[in-house]
Amino acid sequence: MEKDCLFCKISHGQMGTDFIYENDNLVVFRDINPHAPVHLLIVPKRHIRSVNDLSEADSGILAEMILTARQMAIREKVDASGYKLLFNVEKGGGQVIFHLHLHLIGGWDK
Ligand code: AMP
Ligand code: ZN
Repeated sequence: MEKDCLFCKISHGQMGTDFIYENDNLVVFRDINPHAPVHLLIVPKRHIRSVNDLSEADSGILAEMILTARQMAIREKVDASGYKLLFNVEKGGGQVIFHLHLHLIGGWDK
């Protein structure tokens, strides 16, 4: 866990955030400032700063994040209508929380 990292605290259950899904490696919760009817964040429990910090050894967690997003899309009933999966990378890419997370955004047709 990284000191002073909000998503480390959230993913370790220290902020009382409601999880839509949790397993040993990651958590999923609703974005506090949603940009669409469905806006979820898929967040690994292990601290990784951004996509720039990923290595070959992280391919497992990356695949798990995307496959979890797919499952969450089904659960939120946006799989058929469609959705966006988004990584913001570093400041210029719009990243404001420097702990890796995948946005799942959709539900406009609901
Ligand atoms: P990014 O710009 O990719 O770093 O996205 C960070 C996201 O985290 C933003 O969409 C914020 O709305 C969201 N966020 C920040 N704090 C919280 C929180 N306490 N609970 C849920 N989502 C949060
Ligand atoms: Zn962190």
